[in-house]
Amino acid sequence: MSFSTLGLHTDLLAVLDTLGYQTPTPIQQAAIPEVLAGHDVMAGAQTGTGKTAAFALPLIQRHLVRETSEKAIRVLVLTPTRELAQQVHQSFVKYSQGLGLNSVVAYGGASINPQIDALNEGCDVLVATPGRLLELAIKGLIDLSTVETLVLDEADRMLDMGFIVDIERILKRLPETRQTLFFSATFNDDVFALSKTILKQPKLIEVAERNATAAKIEQRFYEVDNKRKAGLVAYLIGSKNWQQVLIFTRTKQAVDELANELEKDGISAAAVHGDKSQGARDRGLEEFKTGQVRALVATDVAARGLDIAQLQYVINYELPYNAEDYIHRIGRTGRAGQAGLAVSLVSNKEKYLLGDVEKLTGEHFILHWMEGFEPDLMAQEEANNTKRKPSKKNLRAKALGQSGSNKAKTGKPRSR
Ligand code: AMP
Repeated sequence: MSFSTLGLHTDLLAVLDTLGYQTPTPIQQAAIPEVLAGHDVMAGAQTGTGKTAAFALPLIQRHLVRETSEKAIRVLVLTPTRELAQQVHQSFVKYSQGLGLNSVVAYGGASINPQIDALNEGCDVLVATPGRLLELAIKGLIDLSTVETLVLDEADRMLDMGFIVDIERILKRLPETRQTLFFSATFNDDVFALSKTILKQPKLIEVAERNATAAKIEQRFYEVDNKRKAGLVAYLIGSKNWQQVLIFTRTKQAVDELANELEKDGISAAAVHGDKSQGARDRGLEEFKTGQVRALVATDVAARGLDIAQLQYVINYELPYNAEDYIHRIGRTGRAGQAGLAVSLVSNKEKYLLGDVEKLTGEHFILHWMEGFEPDLMAQEEANNTKRKPSKKNLRAKALGQSGSNKAKTGKPRSR
């Protein structure tokens, strides 16, 4: 299948040609004709599947065939984070090069004035985070009455981040008659409830199994004690000569600590989290993209929306509390169908989080031990058993795999 069979304008086909896009991805094949036809869409699509082009291309096409050239906000894209907002905005710019479309991005945590200036220069597509959009609307700096299409990108994440009230307030300011496109990597009851209130007879599109992880990503899990995790990360990157590795932690503090540890081990690393200024975050990302640093250590929120072509390795330094974040995290690799490897480091205390990931993905994972980084079973037993102190004999038997945990003796993979 080629893009020309989807009914796209020749000008867009020419842009896609210069970008080297030859075949539409499954979400693009399914969504582009529906969006062009003006339908509401509810799509289950993970990051990295090409979902941005799936809505951007047909919306740019509508701009191309519009009879008036008057600038007005016709498309509003809401995203949960500023990184994703920038990403989507850049995609609109990339896909509409030379076609006279103005895309503007607006997000909090950065000065509002340049955003207002950009809006005043004329805006066809506004990509924004909910908070900043409301601020602009309440101050009367934007007119949302001309919006024809609303896109909610990563709707699940917006709900996770508590944006529901902001979204409801924004919806009240939009025309009743409009097209709404709803994209979500994962689905739960809250996501369905929101979709029901804002979509009209939507076309349902699901290109991958719901809540499934991207197919080409190899997932590997190592059981390792917390205090050995930084060492194992450095070992993996160094010994396997990985050049571009995205590492997730749960907290901002862990981001800074791990980035420092890696630097000490001779692995250049940038740190990205919500307490860093937008400039510092952009710099870190740029250094990582251009290969000036080998590792980018980030929290979930900061990493949302990062699009780094051909990213091969993702490490979960800690498993996320929210299993859906696991899917988003590992979706950073295996982009547009390429192979990727996602390594997760799991401490004894995090095993229940692995259970959550298994439940969500419907997959069963084997916990491996890395030679030289095996967990300290004695310490685990002591922590687990505060009432009855186990005998040394029992502990040794457990460590040697004689009490149910297989293969511990050889340090090879053992099943959970
Ligand atoms: P997305 O899921 O929108 O974040 O896109 C993931 C990556 O795939 C981006 O780097 C896009 O530039 C790229 N991409 C999207 N569609 C295609 C396509 N049809 N062919 C090749 N690359 C694509």
